[in-house]
Amino acid sequence: MSAGSTPSEYGLFIGGASLPASRGERAPVLDPATNRPIATAPVGRADDARHAMEVAESAFRNSGWAEDDGGRRARALYRLARLLEERAESFAVLETTNMGKTIRESKGDIGYVVRTLDYVAGLADKIEGETIPVPGARLDYTLREPLGVTVHIAPWNYPLLLAIRSVAPALAAGNAVVLKPASLTPLTALSFAALAKEAGVPDGIFNVVVGPGGEVGETLVTDPRCRSVSFTGSSEVGQRIAELAARRVIPMTLELGGKSPVVVLPDADLDRAAKGIGFGIFGNAGQMCWAGSRLIVPDALHDELVAKVSKIANGLKLGPGSESTSEMGPVVSADQLDRVVGFVEEARSAGSTVVAGGDRAKEPPLDAGNFVRPTIVTGVSPEQRVVREEVFGPVLSVLRYGQVDEAVRLANDTRYGLFAALWTRDLSQAHTLARQLEAGMVSINEPPTTFPQSPFGGYKESGIGFEQGRRVVESYTRRKNVIVNLGSAKAKK
Ligand code: NDP
Repeated sequence: MSAGSTPSEYGLFIGGASLPASRGERAPVLDPATNRPIATAPVGRADDARHAMEVAESAFRNSGWAEDDGGRRARALYRLARLLEERAESFAVLETTNMGKTIRESKGDIGYVVRTLDYVAGLADKIEGETIPVPGARLDYTLREPLGVTVHIAPWNYPLLLAIRSVAPALAAGNAVVLKPASLTPLTALSFAALAKEAGVPDGIFNVVVGPGGEVGETLVTDPRCRSVSFTGSSEVGQRIAELAARRVIPMTLELGGKSPVVVLPDADLDRAAKGIGFGIFGNAGQMCWAGSRLIVPDALHDELVAKVSKIANGLKLGPGSESTSEMGPVVSADQLDRVVGFVEEARSAGSTVVAGGDRAKEPPLDAGNFVRPTIVTGVSPEQRVVREEVFGPVLSVLRYGQVDEAVRLANDTRYGLFAALWTRDLSQAHTLARQLEAGMVSINEPPTTFPQSPFGGYKESGIGFEQGRRVVESYTRRKNVIVNLGSAKAKK
């Protein structure tokens, strides 16, 4: 199975083979631009999840992947990066057809996965322990060991990128992996698993089970062989995963939702800020955990900045992601479309003003897909749902402030803390405010931007732990302390 040939019937990927779901169930996978089926995917159940865990555990013990010094794993991951690079175009097309994002965005995502693989491959043979000075004639040292079988549960907004962001370091550390992609968008993960086999990842070390989150996801996390869970998705499901992981006392990384503030200071370059704000809320049709969805703007600049961002919103060309001229694709599903439009309707009913967009695209052929117009809502108060909750669509709420301390208070007035943006020419003030913002990531004069070498994670209900960065591979290991008495009479307590 490869993305190039785009099969119409996909299987689960367990033990290096494509398998039907145990009960033979299949579900159509839809193109969000048309809501027409593009393929069918297996619907795995609890017994498929347990089978994947059993196969992964056996491969972890018997394939030699964990015992390697890291060189073999590095080579396999580099090879995997090259194979993906060669097939980047077909993977990007598959991602766009399944998820809806523009082909330019999908190409960016696949390039990001390649860079992630290269980055963690470089870390695979640099997993080191320490020697620790202790009293007497003793040697005290630590070992970094893989955890065993790690479980990864991924969302639909960056289907391959967010899955591999945690899978790649877990593989680099010597673990065996079971991945559950979102039911809406399983195709690139399934194709990627076949590529990993081609790159030399042993059978059973990388498995993919598709199926309903409540059944398959929970079975994976509660399985006694699961040694850690890495979850990206909504805060509500993240809380459930945290409960399950706590009962089993296993480590977890949670990358959850956001309601990220974009604070514009009075001295900002407004044209540059407007472009960054537009990118940060309309990119990926707003379906980004760290979308800059709350614009916090000085009273005096409100109208001018809203006009500039509205011009960008109104100028964006909506269309199927597969068409090179499209600048914004559909949202992932009809349910997501209803959810997004529902937020806007509620804001309108509460007396807020919709100054751009505000509805689904009703003209053919867009009416057949899940297209929402880029939307800006002004006249909102901090208590409104559109300001407090993650819309996960192209909807920007605009809040006004008088003094800068009020802007910081508004920015931090959220249960989330994933990301915050600042736009200003005064870098001294920017660095000072960066410390005051309650967010795991802050950008100054940049839209949301990250690289595989930059830690990515949230404060508050946006999550626990970090993905990416130099320590990420270590986070998929456990540390063992070994103390040796060197046998000398001088060894004493
Ligand atoms: P979910 O959190 O519901 O799903 C994310 C992943 O978790 C999917 O693979 C899903 O499987 C799985 N899952 C669902 N329930 C469970 C469970 N009980 N135990 C284990 N795994 C489970 O997000 P959605 O995709 O439904 O999106 C809903 C909202 O979540 C969005 O509107 C947005 O607000 C937020 N979100 C945030 C993301 C982020 O990056 N921070 C990414 C995606 C969504 P299945 O697909 O089968 O349901």
